[in-house]
Amino acid sequence: MLTVETARTWLSLFIEKLEKNEKYLNSLDESIGDGDHGANMLRGANELKVNLTGESSVLLPDLFKLAGMSFIKKTGGAAGLLYGQAFLHMSQALQASSDLLDSLTSGLEGIQKVGQAELQEKTLVDVWSPVIEDIRNKCLSLERINAHVTSTKGFQAKKGRAAYVSEQLNGHIDPGAASCGYFFEAMLEAGVYDE
Ligand code: ADP
Ligand code: MG
Repeated sequence: MLTVETARTWLSLFIEKLEKNEKYLNSLDESIGDGDHGANMLRGANELKVNLTGESSVLLPDLFKLAGMSFIKKTGGAAGLLYGQAFLHMSQALQASSDLLDSLTSGLEGIQKVGQAELQEKTLVDVWSPVIEDIRNKCLSLERINAHVTSTKGFQAKKGRAAYVSEQLNGHIDPGAASCGYFFEAMLEAGVYDE
């Protein structure tokens, strides 16, 4: 269930995964971009970590607003804006209800409003969209999240910096898709998702 407590755990686990995998995310971005995705995400994560410890009694929408502002302020680049909008849109939806599916759907709308990406363009959308579909169909699992991340190997980038890389990008996992994988893994581990 999505509660203040499970959402806090969700965000904390996401931060931990970004800390652990900074170098891996950078290396994915070296292949198709400028090698900074891990470092970018870690700056947002560190900011969020500080903000979370400072705020002990916040409501669910406030938590995601805090997350959105942290990533917009510190992550920078394409990902900062995209993750930031995702979290701000989640926050907005959570003002109406604590429904996980509604809030993630709103988050994806935020990503697409800013980035204009569709499916199979090697972006965050390639993980958010099928994960939302899996939640709707009550079949989300760690294996499925990993499969969605890995599926980006087969897509040609059409958005963001990677779209300007001339070599064929097939065979490379999209760094943003990989960090989204951590976000949704953290969601499962935190017990936010129950079928
Ligand atoms: P930058 O490209 O500014 O260096 P990052 O390296 O932190 O930013 O993030 C790159 C990631 O952002 C990509 O791997 C991709 O997943 C995501 N991305 C880029 N453009 C878009 C977009 N228009 N829509 C959705 N995601 C995008
Ligand atoms: Mg980059």
